[in-house]
Amino acid sequence: MKIAFIGLGNMGGGMAANLAKAGHEVRAFDLSQEALKTAEANGCTTFSSARDAAEDCEAVVSMLPNGAIVRDLYTSDIIGQAPNDAILLDCSTIDVATAKDVANRAADEGYAMVDAPVSGGIAAANGGTLTFMVGGTEEAFKRAEPILQAMGKAVIHAGDSGAGQTAKICNNMLLAISMIGTAEAMKMAEKLGLDPQKFYEISSQSSGYCWSLNAYTPMPGVGVESPADNGYQGGFATALMLKDLRLASEAAETAGASIALGEHAREIYEELAKEHGHKDFSSIITTL
Ligand code: NAD
Repeated sequence: MKIAFIGLGNMGGGMAANLAKAGHEVRAFDLSQEALKTAEANGCTTFSSARDAAEDCEAVVSMLPNGAIVRDLYTSDIIGQAPNDAILLDCSTIDVATAKDVANRAADEGYAMVDAPVSGGIAAANGGTLTFMVGGTEEAFKRAEPILQAMGKAVIHAGDSGAGQTAKICNNMLLAISMIGTAEAMKMAEKLGLDPQKFYEISSQSSGYCWSLNAYTPMPGVGVESPADNGYQGGFATALMLKDLRLASEAAETAGASIALGEHAREIYEELAKEHGHKDFSSIITTL
């Protein structure tokens, strides 16, 4: 397929490369020249604007920093420019309201669109092992699925438009809370004189079992290898976790949902991000 790919950053760069590897003709655009050079080296054809990349394509995939940029891209450069039988896939993490609004505007002009945010970081984007949670009609999902499969290990239809973003922010709010809980329990065990490795061995096989402890242990030299063993470099940046927690707060307010721990987690990550926004979110343990 001819696929326009907009946003070739940490995540989009690897995703576009995987689409090219799968045999698609990838028409890439990013504001960064460096990102364009890398995309070219990875088998993509590069363009000097999103409009040019989208012309004559069969699908558009975007992987951008926030909702305002996504809205601007689709309303200014894609809707009305890409052929209207093209399927539109936004994989960025953005607010639910913007995702629904952009999809509605696209639908008004005859386009099918899905929100398809991802779980998995840069390594999963490069390795083609992302999990996609997809919002849109059954028909739009069926058209998007084979494109997403070339970039991921799991593609799940979450529900109607916006449901992918809803799943993403709820998942990441849960992750933020469980990471803080894991960090507190590990530090408390240590302060009470229990060897943290013993605590890991016990709790990872008991009811404290969770992804933050078992698969992403936040203490260096304990449990599985994780960003903690690399000075909290790489992994999932605190600033990005904070972005998702802010989206969760906004969504909870709109929906009238009570998220006492989600709000507390946001405040805790707001503090951490002041000085350590670039560090992995599991570095929360270093503040305890
Ligand atoms: P990034 O900042 O590395 O990449 C964003 C890219 O978009 C940049 O290359 C930038 O130049 C480009 N860009 C910005 N505005 C543009 C425009 N108008 N037209 C074209 N290109 C434009 O960010 P990232 O880490 O790749 O994250 C992208 C999205 O994926 C975000 O929504 C993020 O929340 C989500 N996400 C990131 C991770 C992660 O671990 N990095 C994991 C899951 C989801």
